Amino acid sequence: MVTKKAFAYLSLASKMGDLLYRELVSVTRSVGEIYNHGAYKELALVHIPDLTSFRYHEGPFDPEKWLVPLLYVGWLEHPQSFTTGNVTSTLLSKLNAMVSQSNSAYPGLSFLGWESCSFCIASGVPGWCVISESCTNIFVPGNRVVYVATGGILHYIETHSYLPPADFLAAVSKCPDIDSNEYRAALRLANPGFTPSCLEEVSREHLEKTVAAILSEVKQKQKSLNTPCPKCGHQITPAEIRRVSWDEIECPKCGHRFSAAKL
Ligand SMILES: [Zn+2]
Ligand SMILES: [Zn+2]
Repeated sequence: MVTKKAFAYLSLASKMGDLLYRELVSVTRSVGEIYNHGAYKELALVHIPDLTSFRYHEGPFDPEKWLVPLLYVGWLEHPQSFTTGNVTSTLLSKLNAMVSQSNSAYPGLSFLGWESCSFCIASGVPGWCVISESCTNIFVPGNRVVYVATGGILHYIETHSYLPPADFLAAVSKCPDIDSNEYRAALRLANPGFTPSCLEEVSREHLEKTVAAILSEVKQKQKSLNTPCPKCGHQITPAEIRRVSWDEIECPKCGHRFSAAKL
């Protein structure tokens, strides 16, 4: 979860090109270290069953901000199972177009979910298996509901034969181009008469507050992964750990060897 948020905000902050960006790059690297040391499961995985409501984040991703149910679609994660089947090529190209339209018309919504595909990882595909489209999200007006899908569904459909729920696909086929006025009108209509917050700009202040919260969460996590040297007190980070035997660690600062199991 933290990982996804950090990547997510990295994507948005990169558009702002300043200190915030550099700080996020360093956080993301640290998260990478955590990944390499096996703590990633707890951090990275978020599975949201199709057609359920979930408070993934504040703003338009918070169901409470909507007057109709906000239903999540396509937030898959290994090892949870999902429905498979055939999505027509017409629908798939429509979804493709919607993801790129959302990315350019509402870049502020592109911050949640630059995900790795945990199914690809689990099946042994090397690397981080990043799904590039997953940094974009689409809000799709339905019949007295609104769906929010990750752009990652393109990969899940194409590579893993994922079949999204029929009601969602019906809404996709009817959805106007996301960069059009018709789309804004359709979303307003689905959220009876009120402009949903996903059509508003994300403020700089909000972004900074969220980034600060992520930073402290990640730093906290890093701390819990450190091993203190019993001799000099140096906080040995996971990246610095050097095992000299199966249960002994050598402190990189003072050279003291001690059993990690006794700590
Ligand atoms: Zn995959
Ligand atoms: Zn030491």
